[in-house]
Amino acid sequence: GGKRESKNRTPAYLTFDQIGGQDRAKHELMEALDFLIKHEQIQKLGIRPLKGILLTGPPGTGKTLMAKAAAHYTNSVYLAASGSEFVEMYVGVGASRVRDLFKEARTRAQKEGKESAIIFIDEIDVIGGKRDGGQHREYDQTLNQLLTEMDGIHTGDAPRVLIMAATNRKEMLDSALLRPGRFDRHIDVDLPDKKGRLSILNIHVKNKPLAENVSLDRIAEQTFGFSGAQLESVLNEAAIYALREEKDAIEQQHLASAIDKVMMGERTDKEAAQ
Ligand code: ATP
Repeated sequence: GGKRESKNRTPAYLTFDQIGGQDRAKHELMEALDFLIKHEQIQKLGIRPLKGILLTGPPGTGKTLMAKAAAHYTNSVYLAASGSEFVEMYVGVGASRVRDLFKEARTRAQKEGKESAIIFIDEIDVIGGKRDGGQHREYDQTLNQLLTEMDGIHTGDAPRVLIMAATNRKEMLDSALLRPGRFDRHIDVDLPDKKGRLSILNIHVKNKPLAENVSLDRIAEQTFGFSGAQLESVLNEAAIYALREEKDAIEQQHLASAIDKVMMGERTDKEAAQ
């Protein structure tokens, strides 16, 4: 649905500069990624390789952007999958998809002459939810395969493979996923504060003409609780209001209506989900 569309708008490669706010998360992530870059020193010191980074936080805060920027930063090939893709009618299909994903990561890295690959798995909770004793679920094989693949990553392996996963329900995850040597690095990608919102607005306004009287600072002030995805929508909706009125630039009142619209949209989404 709408989510997939918004994903397709993001460019394949992007840098950390194109992610607004999230200063702490970006810093923590880059620090972790240095493990992938400084692999020789890591190996010499006998430090085990970093295999999994878990990004946690509400929807639309830039987790996917972070994974893409991570691939760019480390000069890795980037592959993405979503937990919900592994939900299949037939037992075993999910597991073989996981196997294929790792295989593809290695072949693509080789083909493109890259030393590392980053596999991003969005909605990891769909396959990695808590397993409660005995009850067999179709995704268990998928999860087991993922754990097997991660355990099979060894220091010195080429290409180096790093798994990044995202969830907005960390407490739901099976503890097997969180053990050392698996997703043992957690980075919180939270809703942006006012400063973060302003920097996100500044990124997405770049290709949009603003009327002179518009204050993005005020917009940042008025959008408490908005995610990056919602802020991007506000600017887009505002441009549509401007178009309807046949204006050449976005005015403050277009932004005000757009804020209302995005806020309302959120409410209807929640009601629909109930
Ligand atoms: P989900 O949990 O729903 O998968 P997500 O956290 O992965 O969400 P993204 O897919 O990274 O969110 O973000 C969706 C879109 O929202 C991006 O393509 C971008 O346009 C915008 N966006 C979100 N966060 C930011 C940010 N921090 N800076 C700039 N743009 C952002």
